[in-house]
Amino acid sequence: MAFFCVFAESANLPRNMIENSMFEEEPDVVDLTFPALDPDEITYEPRSSRLLVRGLGENDMDEDEEDCESSARLLGMSFMNRSSSHRPSSSPYTRQSPSRSCSRPTARTMVACVLFLVIVASMTMVLYFLPGCTFTKDGCPKRNKTTPLELVYPLATNGELFPWTQLRLPQSVHPLSYELTLTPDLDNMTFAGIAVINMSVLHNTNRIVLHGLNLNISNATFKIGDGPASNVTVLQYKANQQIAVKFTEYLKVGQYCVLTLTYSANLSSTYDGFYSSSYTDKSGTKHILAATQFEPLSARKAFPCFDEPAFKATFLIKINRKQNYTTLSNMPQDEFERTSVNMSTYLVAFVVANFSPISKNVSGTLVSVYSVPEKKEHTEYALEAASKLLEFYNTFFDIDYPLKKLDLVAIPDFLAGAMENWGLITFRETTLLVGKDSSPLEKQVVASVVAHELAHQWFGNLVTMRWWNDLWLNEGFATYMQYLSLQEVFPELQENLFLSVRFRVMDKDALISSHPVSTAVVTPEQVEEMFDSVSYEKGASILLMLNAYLPGEQQFRKGIIQYLKQFSGSNTETNNLWDSLTQVSTPHQNVSEMMSSWTSLKGFPLVSVSRKGDEVTLTQEHFLLTPANASLWEIPVTYVNDSCSVGPECRQNFLLKKHFSFVISGTFKVPESVKWLKLNYQNTGYYIVDYGDDGWTALINALSTNVSILTFEDRASLIHNMFALSRQGRVSFRRVLSLLNYTYKETETAPVTEALLQLNNIYRLLEKRQEFDLMSCMKVHQLFSNNLATITSFLNKENLSKQELRSALLSMACSLEKENCTQSANDMFKQYVSNQTRRIPGDLQQVVFSVAAQSRTDWLILYDMYKQSTVDAEKRNMLLGLASTQDTQLLAKILNEGLKGDVIQTQELPLIINTVSRGFAGYLFAWDFVQVNWDRLIEKFLVGSFAIQSIIKSVTSPFSTQAHLDQVKAFFSSLQERGSQMRSVQEALETIRLNQLWMERNLSTLRELLTKIQSQPQKEEPGVSH
Ligand SMILES: [Zn+2]
Repeated sequence: MAFFCVFAESANLPRNMIENSMFEEEPDVVDLTFPALDPDEITYEPRSSRLLVRGLGENDMDEDEEDCESSARLLGMSFMNRSSSHRPSSSPYTRQSPSRSCSRPTARTMVACVLFLVIVASMTMVLYFLPGCTFTKDGCPKRNKTTPLELVYPLATNGELFPWTQLRLPQSVHPLSYELTLTPDLDNMTFAGIAVINMSVLHNTNRIVLHGLNLNISNATFKIGDGPASNVTVLQYKANQQIAVKFTEYLKVGQYCVLTLTYSANLSSTYDGFYSSSYTDKSGTKHILAATQFEPLSARKAFPCFDEPAFKATFLIKINRKQNYTTLSNMPQDEFERTSVNMSTYLVAFVVANFSPISKNVSGTLVSVYSVPEKKEHTEYALEAASKLLEFYNTFFDIDYPLKKLDLVAIPDFLAGAMENWGLITFRETTLLVGKDSSPLEKQVVASVVAHELAHQWFGNLVTMRWWNDLWLNEGFATYMQYLSLQEVFPELQENLFLSVRFRVMDKDALISSHPVSTAVVTPEQVEEMFDSVSYEKGASILLMLNAYLPGEQQFRKGIIQYLKQFSGSNTETNNLWDSLTQVSTPHQNVSEMMSSWTSLKGFPLVSVSRKGDEVTLTQEHFLLTPANASLWEIPVTYVNDSCSVGPECRQNFLLKKHFSFVISGTFKVPESVKWLKLNYQNTGYYIVDYGDDGWTALINALSTNVSILTFEDRASLIHNMFALSRQGRVSFRRVLSLLNYTYKETETAPVTEALLQLNNIYRLLEKRQEFDLMSCMKVHQLFSNNLATITSFLNKENLSKQELRSALLSMACSLEKENCTQSANDMFKQYVSNQTRRIPGDLQQVVFSVAAQSRTDWLILYDMYKQSTVDAEKRNMLLGLASTQDTQLLAKILNEGLKGDVIQTQELPLIINTVSRGFAGYLFAWDFVQVNWDRLIEKFLVGSFAIQSIIKSVTSPFSTQAHLDQVKAFFSSLQERGSQMRSVQEALETIRLNQLWMERNLSTLRELLTKIQSQPQKEEPGVSH
């Protein structure tokens, strides 16, 4: 899946809090002892004597022994009694067995032995009756009216016992294939379905448990092999979104069986499951369509299924439709043959609509792009991009795309950026459709989203993570491949995007509320929350770091080809990837050893540099904005120095190893004549660096003399690292300003945009604290003005990078109300209104519309234009303009329209809230709006989803006072199960505290510095001309 537009990030919560509360809230439960022979039982029995078993060699037990042990326990047998007779002698437990050591006793040994036996026996008894969690870090959850030997089964909707308690499904039965027949009724917003599920039995069991939510099952039959089908009762347990069939006789290992379910359901009115959507064409006719979004957990809302990524199967999908509709699914249209590949359920998709395609044959695959008929002319670029990228990936991965066709479909109302369903990729209109005369920036959006989704056809679809804890294997990879492939296929579009997203994810990952790339998740909310920038951008960043560090061009590529080929069609965990990369590395590099800390720990290291003579010492520590327990990494450090600092040949490597938890530093030599060192060449590593006073001074001096002694990535990373260190309180704000002084010579996009973004964050915080004097000082301060002075024109056509720079500078200049900027923008808007065939260049639209929207009259004109426009990228820029008004009545109107979903699709609401929250007039308003409409928001976007994460971040990040902190805390703690335990809430609270701290620390310095500067004569205002 790809994100769209607004940032989507989140924060952390103690895992046990989530689990405990789940347990306490579980409804309708009764206690009983349930006899069990199915090995799945082992995994879900209440935590009883697990620690004892583990301590005495559980690892040596095979499945049968586990069965035996569990049955024994159920029969009330003592573990001690049976272990001596049943355990093989290789078991560590048996080795400790006292009977052997006492074989020829002396009297003294006898006494010792007896004593030892008594001690061992009593300790074992104590351990046996203590719950396993007694010895874990988190201790035992509060619960338990039950004894350790009892199982807790919930009640199904019909009042019978539901035979399964866990959120994860049992492993005894696996699906092999599905046959789905669906009949959607778009007039009544319902659909009927028949699901025929072929399964094989992997362990003897007397139940089949699978997923199903909000499905009205009217009939169910079951048969074993070719035997007769008989009716069965399907039990439903809504809390776990599961259904089950119980049998009086056990199904046997190796048997094949078929479950056929007839059901009906409503089409979903949200953005997941099988949902309905509509659009109105130019003539005013409304068209209804239906589409799916199943990732991560919503396939179960469309058909009964084993809805976990590891339960792969084939699918045969038939959809009955009216004549004027087209149906699309994973396999070719209207044939809908069985999928030729095993697929996870979240990748199944279907669309019922009146779309029309353009197509092209690419190396044996029919590639088509679909849109609503009147936007067909906007599909050409996507077809071209998809074709080129498909060819690139076929070669790069050395595995051909396995299906006969690949459809890319623009859905009028779609929440994510796009979704990689195998053979049927769905997109927002804005991420797929661009006009012929669109700007490079608009094309960049389309090309990168297409590149991301196509990469998933291998990473995610062909090889899938076993469970959502390793979502990064899908998303981190697709994100990395998106940038890598763009660089190869569309080098003119690959600019600063990847660099700036790496900075942003580090900002989030420096919070204590962050989480490791690979994190245990169980509940649906936790799974939803995995879709954040840590899985995506941090995942991509550590892959970049590895690729940049491995010697030789092709080593990384060879490793991933090996991984894809070895695990093709199956499921993997993080270690499988590192093992594949280790296998191909020459000279041998233990990739697992180096990379495991990067996926298992949250956050990243700070590397401090100190020099004495020719010796350089690097010391690492966990970079955290809120102090806490620290972690250590194995860091592939790169560095350059003043004798050679720009070309890739200048790069030198040093592996900063960790040894246990106390050796945290390493040394290497450089000639004493070296004036300065810059670590993390081109910022390909996922760590930040503090050079110490001398090191920073040397770098700042060098930059002030000659900007081009470092690559632009290195310059941007110095700015980013310096701000991060200042936010942590490690360097003074004075030091930050001394580095920024060099930027008046800066001409590259990345360093300028990074400096402006950081300064603007401070400016916006000051605004919300109503420090208007300080703001006006800052506005005329050279840091802003000098950078803005590089603006020369609104109209010059340049390359993508220059366009980005121009767009960033003008946005800043106009938002600071620099008169020559706003005047030019207003003129452009007037010209456009009088003659709409003269389109405003894509990179300038947002600035121009935002300026226009400040006047009430122009806002209304813009709103009408928004309603008429069919060019999606432009429409989005108009919306950004509309939401940036400072007129509170108009803000209320746009927020409410976003919620209503008629004129403005509800998919845009997170973007609107984000824009409104940035302005002074709107930030309190947006916070209020979110509180009042919370229930409607989580109904539309689901608790934990990236849309909700983004909304929380947008409305809370402008706060920096205790009063606001208290308000935010009070609101979210009042929500309880409606979202109080989301990571993003923890992140929000931490961010407000840090904002508050920064203000306390730096406000007086800032006041002093700015007043001093203001009293000095100022340079001229920057020039903006046409
Ligand atoms: Zn993705």
